[in-house]
Amino acid sequence: ERTKLAKLRRLPSITTDGEEVELLANMEIPAELPLIAQAGAQGIGLLRTEFLFMNREDLPDEDAQVAAYAPIVEAMAGDPITIRVLDWGGEKEMEALAAGVPAQTSANPALGLRGIRMLLKRPELLEAQFAAILRVAGKAPEGAVRVLLPMVTIPTEVKAAREVYDRVARRLRRRGEKLPEKLPELGAMIETPGAALAADAIALEADFFAIGTNDLAMYTLAVDRGDAEVAHLYDPLHPAVLRLMQFATEAALRLRMPVSVCGEMGGNPRLVPLLLGLGIRCLSMNASAIPRVKQAVRSLDIGDCARFARRVMEQSDPARIRELVDGFATGVT
Ligand code: PEP
Ligand code: MG
Repeated sequence: ERTKLAKLRRLPSITTDGEEVELLANMEIPAELPLIAQAGAQGIGLLRTEFLFMNREDLPDEDAQVAAYAPIVEAMAGDPITIRVLDWGGEKEMEALAAGVPAQTSANPALGLRGIRMLLKRPELLEAQFAAILRVAGKAPEGAVRVLLPMVTIPTEVKAAREVYDRVARRLRRRGEKLPEKLPELGAMIETPGAALAADAIALEADFFAIGTNDLAMYTLAVDRGDAEVAHLYDPLHPAVLRLMQFATEAALRLRMPVSVCGEMGGNPRLVPLLLGLGIRCLSMNASAIPRVKQAVRSLDIGDCARFARRVMEQSDPARIRELVDGFATGVT
């Protein structure tokens, strides 16, 4: 079984009818790098940068961030890597004081100054992070690095972030830094119901989408997974979550804009038929999930997936959807 999964590493991620599905790794700490190579990831679809800001008393400056990103980008040797700027707040609030990031006083941190909201309020943090990413991208092959904004809810957040981004790039060029000819793409996380329903408008400002199903499910269903009283209501297969994913995916596909799924759903082999059926062709997940997801991809036909997704999307009961999902053979053991 182990060797079978190991062999999968060298096989292409392609459906039986020849559709390529990009399988990328999520990364939380640099120590995961060897695992990512071992798993056969085609790149990093989500580099969470919170690790840089945790367990320290000061903020990492531009140079410190370059020193952190450069070895990761180098190790990926030209494979794509999407670096998400700091997603502070919400459940990540605990360490905020230690890192010199403003502490939240909100009674509902998940609804407060989180992600891009905090960064636009503290543009010096966003500037340092953009500058570090741009400098590292300047040493990587053109197009290898992309930049991702967390917790977007309105198009103007992407627009405002891009203004900072362009300004930082101009400043770096004046300083004589070598940047890529074309600036790395700037994408938006679709992880709130607002962003999903406004995806067509956000698509006009963003270069790509990454659908974050963890937060999308939490905010859509108004369920805090950490709260035992309501945890049973947390179900990413709730039709409301699926409809939002479908709406956002279709908005991207209409514009031929890249879209990936990078929440936990993306790493569940049983959900691959549904995600491919909805039009998703890029999944980012914990590295350890890649072999089994690839196994699923290699057993599937896109036409079957599309028909299956249409059937699922007609359902209103999450339990029935789970039955359908569990009943769809993916050849995964
Ligand atoms: C998500 O919300 O699905 C996501 C990928 O972001 P994070 O898990 O880091 O909040
Ligand atoms: Mg999230």
